[in-house]
Amino acid sequence: VSEVLLLGTGGWSWPNPFCRCASCEWARSAGEIRTQASALVDGAVLLDCGPDVPSAAVRHGAALDGVRLLLLTHAHSDHVSPQVLMLRHWARLDAPLVVAGPPAAIALHEHWIDPAGPITLRTLLPGDTVTAGGYVARALPAAHGDATTGVCVLYDLTTPDGTTLLYATDTGPLPDETLAATAGRAYDVVLLEETFGDWPGGDAHGHLGLREFGEAVAALRRNGAVGDATRVVATHLGDHNPPGPELARRLALYGAELHPDGTRLTTGPVPRTPGPQRVLILGGARSGKSLEAERRLHAEPDVVYVATSLPSDDAEWADRVSLHRKRRPAHWQTVETLDLVPLLEADGPPLLIDCLTLWLGAAYDDEGRADALVDAWRRTRRTLVAVTNEVGSGVVPATASGRVFRDALGRLNAAVAAESDEVWLTVAGLPQRLR
Ligand SMILES: [Zn+2]
Ligand SMILES: [Zn+2]
Repeated sequence: VSEVLLLGTGGWSWPNPFCRCASCEWARSAGEIRTQASALVDGAVLLDCGPDVPSAAVRHGAALDGVRLLLLTHAHSDHVSPQVLMLRHWARLDAPLVVAGPPAAIALHEHWIDPAGPITLRTLLPGDTVTAGGYVARALPAAHGDATTGVCVLYDLTTPDGTTLLYATDTGPLPDETLAATAGRAYDVVLLEETFGDWPGGDAHGHLGLREFGEAVAALRRNGAVGDATRVVATHLGDHNPPGPELARRLALYGAELHPDGTRLTTGPVPRTPGPQRVLILGGARSGKSLEAERRLHAEPDVVYVATSLPSDDAEWADRVSLHRKRRPAHWQTVETLDLVPLLEADGPPLLIDCLTLWLGAAYDDEGRADALVDAWRRTRRTLVAVTNEVGSGVVPATASGRVFRDALGRLNAAVAAESDEVWLTVAGLPQRLR
């Protein structure tokens, strides 16, 4: 059993002292301060060392004199600061320390290190392994970097007692070589970056947002790097993220954890608590209900997306359907059908049903069909997320058939909600839990 101390879980700094956005204001008022991402394993291996890391160690009650291996991911200044090694020099430590990392990160240290002293510099490229004090670290490719950093790496670390850790920051969507190298590892701990929250386009900057984080977890589940007992912890968090409680909720949907700086994670089997089996999400038009439904399943290795829309030659509708399709992860399987009962009765990966309103539109003249659906809902063993429209708060429909449909949908929503483990309402993109 090893101990992983989260010295920092921020990008540069969340809150950003210069920023007045709602996310930074929340972090300031809650006192939830995240500084540069870094982790200390068993007091012996330090993963990254930005300029704030030594003072974070002091604040969190950790000493760094036992560190024998400093692993640097890349040369960006929130991950590397050679001048902090002066502190070690002043302490007159003569125990050996290996500082390992890609060429540009190691080059920054050259003027700060006495070649005759106890510190050894070691240049690593993806695929290289470095060993110190019984700890074995392998460098893996990262999707990150620019002309100043050159190659950037992630680390696969094994401790002397066999505990395994994947340290994955900074990176965009994990490269194929990294997925191949981590296959079957079933890590004890995965520290995975989640820099950009819901901000679009984060992966183009060599980072992950919430959606890409979920998809990376799904990929690591598919290749066996993340198993049932793996603790997946988000790090390198920035102020594009929603305030803490909402961020924790979103990560928990992925089976991932959010912890404050200074948390000591002990490894060892932590059984994953299964999420709710049947979830119904109600919302008005453009309320964010479909997006919320999709987000719940981004970290699942396989998903069947059930589109209940019937093919239409309406161009605006076709555009909207293709936009929704592009938004979904490429590996999701899409099924277009109104025949929901056989899907609920069969075994298989989670189902995302979007949406019950359209389904009812095609089936509402037959009350028996709605009863059969509700009955299958009650009995299904599959994980289900379904979307439906919340109607009835607007104006009364002008036509008699519109009023009949509104009433039928209200009855169907209530019946399905009664058979669901969780029920949510989205308003202005904000999900509210009803049940
Ligand atoms: Zn960074
Ligand atoms: Zn970086």
